[in-house]
Amino acid sequence: MGCWGAWGAGSAASGEKSPSSSGAAAASAKRSANARREMCGGTPVELKLGMRAKVSSAPATGEAPTRELFGPGPSNVDPRVTRALAQPLVGHLDPYFLQLMDETMDALRRVYRTTNHHTIPMSATGSGGLETIMLNLLEPGDEAIVGVIGYFGQRLAEMASRAGATVRVLEAPLGDVIAPERIAAELRRKPAKLVALVHAETSTGAWQPVEDIAGVAHEHGALFAIDCVTSLGGVPVDIDRWGVDAAGSCSQKCLGSPPGLAPVTFGPRALDAVRRRRHKPSTWYFDLNLVFQYWGEAGGPKDRVFHHTAPVASLYAFREALRLVLEEGLEARWRRHRDAHERFARGLERLGLELFTPAAQRLPQLNVIKIPPGVDDALVRRQLLARGIEIAGGFGPLKGKTWRVGLMGYNATPARVDLLLNAIEEVLRVGAFLR
Ligand code: PLP
Repeated sequence: MGCWGAWGAGSAASGEKSPSSSGAAAASAKRSANARREMCGGTPVELKLGMRAKVSSAPATGEAPTRELFGPGPSNVDPRVTRALAQPLVGHLDPYFLQLMDETMDALRRVYRTTNHHTIPMSATGSGGLETIMLNLLEPGDEAIVGVIGYFGQRLAEMASRAGATVRVLEAPLGDVIAPERIAAELRRKPAKLVALVHAETSTGAWQPVEDIAGVAHEHGALFAIDCVTSLGGVPVDIDRWGVDAAGSCSQKCLGSPPGLAPVTFGPRALDAVRRRRHKPSTWYFDLNLVFQYWGEAGGPKDRVFHHTAPVASLYAFREALRLVLEEGLEARWRRHRDAHERFARGLERLGLELFTPAAQRLPQLNVIKIPPGVDDALVRRQLLARGIEIAGGFGPLKGKTWRVGLMGYNATPARVDLLLNAIEEVLRVGAFLR
């Protein structure tokens, strides 16, 4: 297995000059130079970060097609969520809407298993929530350690670097995870303000244990933040019990809502760091202090200050999705995701297909399948799409070698798994790829 290699820091870290002498380019090169890469053994692989998709020549007119969304998200949503989306609009300062905001915060706290007041869906996709964490917790001159077990870890490191921090990256080979001892050793070597990791790495299907790393970070006086974009609602996330200081997720995966919202939570240690900042964050839109003048500080004034026009309809849908999660119960939902994965894995075995991610750290909601030799990745995915079914390809070093199949939220049921397995079998038989 390969390793994720440098995420663009190689040349700068080795002292090469930036090709441009402009101030912005020089600043960017300096930030990149902050990123020091740790080798994970073997030859490092240069990663192409782009995730390209072919543009179809068919005109996008008329109604959107019905798709069964078995990629890494968005996934299909419950009809109750679709109905909520179509409710009449109200203003973003309407008393009804302010009440909905409070209800949403309350439900989100229960889903994140936290008493953190500062728990809201940011008006952004998951990436925006993660930038909110990095831009509020870090400032120029800070040190951060980012565990990189795949593509999304690299992005987290890039965000930390753009927040002005000096980033030390610890990598693991593809499919693997980072042991707490490695973080402890790095913190002993040099302290850091923040340790950050991806909990569910969507590029490799690896499930990174985080609880022990939270303890290690705190022992060394560091904050601990996680990307739980693919984990929240699908596998246990227990913010207060684990001692996570900040976390960011998305609306469109295991929580079962359309894309466009980024649920985040910030605990007391993280807020203390925000209060003790030497400078205002470089972001206006994601500045927590401003955003909470709209969402309401704990014990603060009842009236709300306009910050931006909240995506009212998306929040109707999101509140309904959270209600569905809580009605089902978190444990039952995690079990449903695990059962769906096990059914899918048994079906794949029957078809002679293998999972890429080692069993010990395999996510149930995101299945990375090895493409058998001789099978045309793009052709199979095109034929599935012609049947109304979306799955995703791999990227980076796994492009053309893996498929990524999400069984998330509404799609994590036996009927949906069977629908997908039957379609995969049919496509592979038509292509004469199955014996
Ligand atoms: N982090 C992880 C682990 C992801 O899987 C994704 C998206 O798939 C993101 C971050 C980015 O989230 P979004 O696409 O909602 O901005």
